[in-house]
Amino acid sequence: MVSSYEHHKEHRHEQYRRILLAMAGEERTNEEHVSGYHVRQRVKNALTHTGNSVLWHKIKACSRSSRCQSLWCGHCRNSAANAVETQIRKRLIDEEAIFGGTSLDRTSSEFNDHMNANHRHVSGYVGVFSLDQASVLAGLQFDRKRWKKLKERQTDRAFWIAGNYEMELVNYRFLVSSLNTESKKKQKQIAQLLSYSRDMGWINKGDNVGVLLHWHAVTNATEEALEDVLGDAYWVDGERLYKTSAPGVYVQSLHSNKSFDVNIGKMASYALKSATRYKHTFIGSDCGDELMLQSELSGLINLYHQIQKRNWRALLFTHTIGSREMTVLSNKEADSSD
Ligand SMILES: [Zn+2]
Repeated sequence: MVSSYEHHKEHRHEQYRRILLAMAGEERTNEEHVSGYHVRQRVKNALTHTGNSVLWHKIKACSRSSRCQSLWCGHCRNSAANAVETQIRKRLIDEEAIFGGTSLDRTSSEFNDHMNANHRHVSGYVGVFSLDQASVLAGLQFDRKRWKKLKERQTDRAFWIAGNYEMELVNYRFLVSSLNTESKKKQKQIAQLLSYSRDMGWINKGDNVGVLLHWHAVTNATEEALEDVLGDAYWVDGERLYKTSAPGVYVQSLHSNKSFDVNIGKMASYALKSATRYKHTFIGSDCGDELMLQSELSGLINLYHQIQKRNWRALLFTHTIGSREMTVLSNKEADSSD
């Protein structure tokens, strides 16, 4: 039974959440209200039937005094989106200051057109990993090292990129049996990533279920700047991932018919899903027909629990490219050091 005090607290919390959502301009968890009950039942069954009752009780008992921080908890998934959004907002402060700081009119078309045109949504793919903590941690480390090297490159380009990693369970056998056009694209990409990941030793040959490690981010870089700086860093086996943009990652423009704040809110929650089914395409709302096995769903929930760390910080990233040369060395100094 929920005590009236608990109920009151939840009610106040719900009110607060609605205010936040209204500020962001759009309902963030629509889908969840519809499917929330079924998701919760699946999560409960998966965890309790696979010896993970402790984790289920943590999610079930989630309250203000003790948050479970699971993406399969409606409240905590929303908090995760807020954490990602806060990180992106920190990057925007200086750019927004140009538009008048505190007196900034966030509804003006001048502000929205400029900000929408000068930012992009970028997605990068790391690989497909066995469903265990050590494999996926190796993948995260691999990608963080890649960015460390990119940041050390000499470049005239300067930009920031901020976002978060997503671990998505893929079932290649289900994927190849799906026939629609968008699935064909995902099939080719996963085939390419699987072959590469097997060579890298990230997933066993013959495994058809694995964790697709990828990230979604916001950047103020142009596509040319990304191409320049990334080079072939995100290429797979000597070629770009099928249908990706020139830099080997997906680069998408923001929706020019939506406000910048709505776009940012959507991107901040994009990589935070409470999946219980396999997806057959990369379209955001798509859900395949195949439910994950209880052992698979339980494995994925556990994986997040083991890897994400407090406030999801192990999944967040915010990188600055080109700042070192700009702030430390003038061109003259850089030349004379050769
Ligand atoms: Zn929770």
